[in-house]
Amino acid sequence: MKKDIIYNNIKYTESIRQVTAALVGNPNSGKTTLFNTLTGSNQQVGNWPGVTVERKVGACIREPLLHIVDTPGCYSLEPFTPEEKIASQYLLEGHPDVILNVVDSTNLERSLFLTTQLTELNIPLVVALNMQDEAEAKGITVDAAALSNVFGCTFVPISAAKNKGIDKLLKACLNAAKDISAAPSDRHQSTAERYALIEKAIQRSVKLSERDASALTDKIDKILLNKWLAFPVFAVVMTVVFFVSVGGIGGRLTELIENKLTPLLQLAAQNAFSKTSITWLTSLVCEGVIGGVMSVVSFVPQVTILYGCIALLEGCGYMSRIAFITDRLLHSLGLGGRSFVCMILGCGCSVPAILSTRTIKNVRERNATITLTPFVPCSAKLAVIAFFTANVFDGNALFAVSFYFASIAAIIIGGMLLKLFGRDKDGDTFLMELPQYRLPGIKNVLRQMWQRCKAFLVKAGTVILGASVVLWVLTHFDIHFCLTETQNSMLAQLGKIISPVFSPLGFNDRGCGWQLAVATLSGIAAKETVVTTLQILLPNGIAEAVSPLGAYSFVLYNLLTIPCVAACSASFTEQGDWKKGIRSAGFQIAVAYILSMLVYQLGRLFVT
Ligand code: GDP
Repeated sequence: MKKDIIYNNIKYTESIRQVTAALVGNPNSGKTTLFNTLTGSNQQVGNWPGVTVERKVGACIREPLLHIVDTPGCYSLEPFTPEEKIASQYLLEGHPDVILNVVDSTNLERSLFLTTQLTELNIPLVVALNMQDEAEAKGITVDAAALSNVFGCTFVPISAAKNKGIDKLLKACLNAAKDISAAPSDRHQSTAERYALIEKAIQRSVKLSERDASALTDKIDKILLNKWLAFPVFAVVMTVVFFVSVGGIGGRLTELIENKLTPLLQLAAQNAFSKTSITWLTSLVCEGVIGGVMSVVSFVPQVTILYGCIALLEGCGYMSRIAFITDRLLHSLGLGGRSFVCMILGCGCSVPAILSTRTIKNVRERNATITLTPFVPCSAKLAVIAFFTANVFDGNALFAVSFYFASIAAIIIGGMLLKLFGRDKDGDTFLMELPQYRLPGIKNVLRQMWQRCKAFLVKAGTVILGASVVLWVLTHFDIHFCLTETQNSMLAQLGKIISPVFSPLGFNDRGCGWQLAVATLSGIAAKETVVTTLQILLPNGIAEAVSPLGAYSFVLYNLLTIPCVAACSASFTEQGDWKKGIRSAGFQIAVAYILSMLVYQLGRLFVT
């Protein structure tokens, strides 16, 4: 690489080599936070194992010649887990110029085991003593110089979250990479020798004040992980999250967009197009484009706030506890804590959730997780839930929550069925670390909220916009491509053919079965389209088109049936076999159909 240098007003061009630093460390040591601080990129930051699955690369903002390669979190270089395999393979074959080992200063005993292994790789090593702010607050003092003496490499105290010590760290990395005097070592210690070294290092470098660092975490865990309280607390936490996002502020903002902003935009468009004599154009823009796109945009506040809440739970350490308390339950279904981590990702979008199942070693458990993850309501399905909650269930957030519990029930029933018909019954053992509780980084929370909001808006401006226009055409033209009433349109014809299939589910209980059937079909493009289609097809509103019981069954079916095309194709490719993909899709449709039918038919016995 060439770099221009100005010296005595003369410009010289000097060849400078790029330096590659591999970021290595235990899960939750702050690698992702440091990567973001160094590169300014928008990587997701979380507080539970499994987030950093892919390798990410970024040029350092302050030192553009320094390139950072992020590796998955690992506890040791022996490749027990897929993450450890990726990390050790990269260090052995990727030829980084320097290893930047991130350790949690508040938990050195655990973190330094990996460091002892890294010192034996004959690659220059710099250790970032992260979380200094937290260590200070807990009365822990770490002597970096003493550690450097014991391990023979540079230790730099930093706080990735507070942006402290970063310049010193970068300087140390560049110096270490340049230092060709680093003597190759052929020391290979046994596990006992490593622990003896760690003990010596800690004795020489760590001073604890009177306060017990982990006392608070232990006290909180006594309540949150208590045998009897863990699940009720989880249910209460999730209910509060939904009341805040779907019911509270989120719900009000959505109403504001629906009742004020959308009519305003439609009025403006009507005025603009009133001068032209083409009436269908006004209808296309007002109903098709604005109506369709805004019906999805109006859920942006709810979705953004919900993901803000989830990021807060991740950031403070509660998400790992949820994975922990569900591990035993999932094990009995032939799944494991790792499946749960994938399913939590599914709250955002099924596609990355399905891709993250690569971290599950056991093939059966992996395929079962791929099949069951789409039952988790993703952000697109949240739009459907929120639409029905507002328009059919009087804005009562309990209905929204109940759909989440219904999806948990579907996962349990689905898991039991898959286990019943599967051959290999055991789930993977999941080694999980419970991080200490800490105040979540607000910047990370805001970043995640923005990412989700942006993704939602991009989808509204592309897929949803396209689908809205196509839908408008299909609902305004007949099969001879002549303008017609909705009842005689192409879509109505198609809907009337397929609607009897959904009659046992109550879609037709007020005579609007074909509109609901068509909405269900349109959900295959993207689940938000279900709302758009209903808005376009039902000018009198959904509340008049179907009974509350039929509406409940409709939402349930749409939540559980095959996900959108993108998620279906991820499921097909990740299972590596189209037959398995089809089997998963058939299973999802069957579970959705049977559960919704049961809810509707049994519900009719109680509700008139
Ligand atoms: P990773 O799993 O190693 O990628 O760890 P993350 O970067 O996701 O960090 C785990 C948690 O530690 C997050 O909640 C971060 O906000 C938090 N964290 C990271 N660095 C620091 C730090 O220097 N100080 C404090 N107090 N928290 C930090």
